[in-house]
Amino acid sequence: MSVQWFPGHMHATRKAILERVKELDVVVELLDARLPGSSANPLLAELTAGKPTLKVLNKQDLADPVRTEQWLAHYNARPGTRAIALDASETSPAKAIIAACRELAPLRGGMAKPLRVLIGGIPNVGKSTLVNTLKGKRATKTGDEAGVTKVEQRIVLADDFYLYDTPGMLWPKIVVPESGYHLAASGAVGRNAYDEELVALELLKVLQGPYAALLEARYKWGSAPEAIAAMKDEELLFAIGKKRGALLPGGKLNAQKAAETLLTDFRSGALGRITLETPEQFARWLAAGLEA
Ligand code: GDP
Repeated sequence: MSVQWFPGHMHATRKAILERVKELDVVVELLDARLPGSSANPLLAELTAGKPTLKVLNKQDLADPVRTEQWLAHYNARPGTRAIALDASETSPAKAIIAACRELAPLRGGMAKPLRVLIGGIPNVGKSTLVNTLKGKRATKTGDEAGVTKVEQRIVLADDFYLYDTPGMLWPKIVVPESGYHLAASGAVGRNAYDEELVALELLKVLQGPYAALLEARYKWGSAPEAIAAMKDEELLFAIGKKRGALLPGGKLNAQKAAETLLTDFRSGALGRITLETPEQFARWLAAGLEA
């Protein structure tokens, strides 16, 4: 069984983006640096096709720096695309965002032709945190322009630089089964969409190869990375349960509790800096999905 996620409709979001798209110069797409491929929303790409795009890999403090570099290189190699990595500790991310957007739309800017930028991302990716940091002391102007709906926020980052927050919801989309597990592990889909034990087992399969040392550092089994890499996912979950008192009378595993322990440790960063997918892996999964 995979992750079953049936998000709400995005008709209103689609309509609002379509209304604005013609006058947009750049689209800023916020991604979760731990799962950049899976946290993308294909609707945003579809509606804004052809527009210069800035991919912002957010929560980079939780992600594997080596893999973040791979993803940045991957996106930066695409024509019309730039990529930067950020996290919430950044006190003035506006500078990096403005500079990257100006590079993407060099013919815009100045009072006559202000740069118009749309920012979008799936829930929980850190958009409100970033938008609030960007707003800082600047006054936010809303609804003072023809065609600007009440809910849409315009943030004036510079005199000639307007950032528009996407109105409505950009739900995550599970394009391949791996995306479902990664989105669930990150906490981006609702808890009733998945079985925590199943997601924890899939997460262990992803972690036990490249991140065996991090698992050992957290759970202190006294096992070598090669031994951890060779273990079955169920054995690993049992080993977590044993260390964390997630056992039932008779020594059976309390799988739910062990799974919650692992997921909490991953989400909070207690396990260390981890990225669940590489650009190559994601491309392979997509290709396999298209063939199927
Ligand atoms: P939104 O749903 O996209 O608006 O996401 P929020 O801004 O509400 O952030 C979701 C959660 O992620 C909150 O608990 C934030 O504190 C956390 N968060 C946001 N940005 C970062 C970041 O760069 N690093 C870390 N570690 N946490 C972040």
